[in-house]
Amino acid sequence: MSTPPVLRFAPSPTGLLHVGNARTALYNALFAWREGGTFILRYDDTDTARSSEAFAEAIAQDVAWLGLAPDRVEHQSRRLDRYDAAVARLKALGRLYPAYETEAELEAMRQSRRRRGLPPIYDRAALKLTGEARAAWEAEGRRPHWRFKLDGRQVVWDDMVRGRQGVDTATLSDPVLVREDGSYLYTLTSVVDDIEMGVTHVVRGEDHVTNSGVQIEIIEALGGPVPRFGHHNLLVLPSGEGLSKRLGHLSLRALREEGEESLAVAALAVLTGTSLAVEPVAGLDALAAKIDFTKISRAPARFDPAELSALTAATLHHLPFEAVAGRLAALGVGGGDDFWRAVRGNLNRLADAADWWRVVDGPVDPAVVPENTVFLEQAAALLPQTPWDGEVYPRWIAALKPASGRAGRALFHPLRLALTGRESGPEMKALLPLIGREKAAARLRGENA
Ligand code: GLU
Repeated sequence: MSTPPVLRFAPSPTGLLHVGNARTALYNALFAWREGGTFILRYDDTDTARSSEAFAEAIAQDVAWLGLAPDRVEHQSRRLDRYDAAVARLKALGRLYPAYETEAELEAMRQSRRRRGLPPIYDRAALKLTGEARAAWEAEGRRPHWRFKLDGRQVVWDDMVRGRQGVDTATLSDPVLVREDGSYLYTLTSVVDDIEMGVTHVVRGEDHVTNSGVQIEIIEALGGPVPRFGHHNLLVLPSGEGLSKRLGHLSLRALREEGEESLAVAALAVLTGTSLAVEPVAGLDALAAKIDFTKISRAPARFDPAELSALTAATLHHLPFEAVAGRLAALGVGGGDDFWRAVRGNLNRLADAADWWRVVDGPVDPAVVPENTVFLEQAAALLPQTPWDGEVYPRWIAALKPASGRAGRALFHPLRLALTGRESGPEMKALLPLIGREKAAARLRGENA
């Protein structure tokens, strides 16, 4: 790519982000980073009735949780002067026209068209309004909304996901870009921003394909360069139902609170519904390297929460200590890299590490049955002297086996029960040096340590 690309994720702060929104955010951010470009987080917040600062804040947190630090953050609500200027230009070009119909009148018009076998699109009656008719409406107190006059042609583009796409704008209503109250619609604001921010690639859900046909016409009218478009398939629930921000489906916040790993959510969100294998990744760089828009399928992508839990566990099993050190400290977990390596393979959730840390750090109530007390006394007596290294456990077992005459489960199981208070868990070879000689000896003697 010759010039660095510029991509954006443009959520409306009208609800919590769900995993389908994360898919869009990740495609844009990871592609931008991989190609040395810019990633913009842009709040589509001109709909003041439905947008809220609290949702914008939640989106910022969710984006950060995914690990996507935007290079630039923009709010459409702070850019109204840009939209004013664009509207003035479109008016001057004769591409915006005022219309006065109420919603009820529009509905009646659509019904009448349906009855006559015509598509229920706007009939452009307002284009024929005389100055007098307009003045009459205005005198009645009606305010106009403003529609963009579509060319009514086949708009085509080479979609990064879907290949050649065409939208016949003759089959569409002229879109309203300015409401009666003067507020702007997304169809306009998004285009103005994409032009002014130099957006080179627009990657979004396939629910926007028709919008793209319309928006390409508006971009061309404003004289801006047309970016490349890519429309990815949408994530659906296992039932086939679409995800809804409003209904709070699979919100990133809920997944985070349930203890899912953000890297697992990212891997599943990006890889589901593609021809690539869904598998744990070592980091966002590795995930970015896999992004290939041509591998996204056309069918809806089913997102299975059960698959996510398995992927969270598998992700943890490979994460390096540095990736989790801060979160472990926040959980009160010590033991550093050695502890992390010892237990990560046994975790379903990161929070499980706190349970294993209690097993190491104590106090542990050793599970000692009377018939094993003599054996465990013997085991305590044979504990190697300090300092201990990573080989202390095999050395100890090598001495204990001939001395006790025990082998297999009869040898190992009572030791694990006494040392950890648990039936199973991480390898004793890794745990014993972390428990240390003093606590190990006490637990083998049945003491709470
Ligand atoms: N706010 C729009 C949405 O969330 C943005 C679509 C776009 O990326 O242009 O669907």
